[in-house]
Amino acid sequence: MKPLALFKSELDVFLKELSRDFDIFGPKRQKKGFLDWGKIEGLSDLDLSPGVTKTSVKSFFLPQPEVLFEFSAKTGDERAFRLKEPECPDRKRVLLGVRPCDARSIFLNSMPYKEDCYFQGNIERNIVIGLFCKTHLSTCFCTWVGGSPTSTDGMDIGVYELEDSFIFLPVSQRGEELLRGLGLREISQEEEGQLEAYKSDAPEGISEGIDIAKEFSKKSLFDLYDAQFWQEVTDPCLNCGTCTFLCPTCYCFDIQDEVLRGRGRRIRYWDSCMFPLFTLHASGHNPRGEKVKRVRNRFMHKLKYFPDRFGPISCVGCGRCVRDCPVSIDIRQVIRQFLEI
Ligand code: SF4
Ligand code: SF4
Repeated sequence: MKPLALFKSELDVFLKELSRDFDIFGPKRQKKGFLDWGKIEGLSDLDLSPGVTKTSVKSFFLPQPEVLFEFSAKTGDERAFRLKEPECPDRKRVLLGVRPCDARSIFLNSMPYKEDCYFQGNIERNIVIGLFCKTHLSTCFCTWVGGSPTSTDGMDIGVYELEDSFIFLPVSQRGEELLRGLGLREISQEEEGQLEAYKSDAPEGISEGIDIAKEFSKKSLFDLYDAQFWQEVTDPCLNCGTCTFLCPTCYCFDIQDEVLRGRGRRIRYWDSCMFPLFTLHASGHNPRGEKVKRVRNRFMHKLKYFPDRFGPISCVGCGRCVRDCPVSIDIRQVIRQFLEI
């Protein structure tokens, strides 16, 4: 199926059409001024400014919190402690304006969560309409880690923003099916010209591209593990966990059972490898009791353990951890130090 086009002036009608069958979520300007995910009720809600939202799309696929099952814990209830699946929302969702780095995180997280029916159910429930990047922020580095401003990984549909129109590129089968029903038009010759220029310019938008997956595959795990720089990287870290909660590719969790007024629920919560309790064993032993071990684990997991197991680096270069770390720890600096080993 060929890409299809929509004039920007028709976006409002497009959203109305889409909202008949789907709940739409997209980047929305929050009262405090930053961009974050929100429900899109009309054109005025949607803000397609450059850059990534404060939080990532992770919460649509690994919700915080996520009820895994429910049960009655009432005494005398004959159905007590029989497990019940939580009810799913009737309507599917469209995630609109997902940047290529965030969309790639869905693709990467699908690898360790391949067998997880909750994650896979959320993949089914959320259709991803990505928005390719024309410009970038100083914290973006997708090209270092296997992505690009026009990567389609994790998308059902990818959208190019031209001067007066949007071009919709079908990526998956369901993306194609969705596009067929939306009454979009064929691309004009002028738009085709703009699209070619866009495609050839976009990847150069982010300077200093390094193929680090290739470089790191040559490095010894033990040399990296024992490197001298870990203490220096660790010293300023507060172990606040901000980096891990904002990161689209951090997926550590904890599971807790809660019973309140006879209603029981097993809930999966986000957790963080930066917290000492995360690895504390029931025996009292903690394999990552010292801060340096936790900080090292965060970076080694993304840059060495995950690629050794699954192939790609588990970072999409969105720059959220760089932007919001209170003590300015920069993963790009750690990557440079890896490269020097
Ligand atoms: S955000 Fe910064 S200070 Fe907080 S845990 Fe992460 S690296 Fe450490
Ligand atoms: S490690 Fe940082 S730059 Fe990489 S995906 Fe996570 S938040 Fe984004």
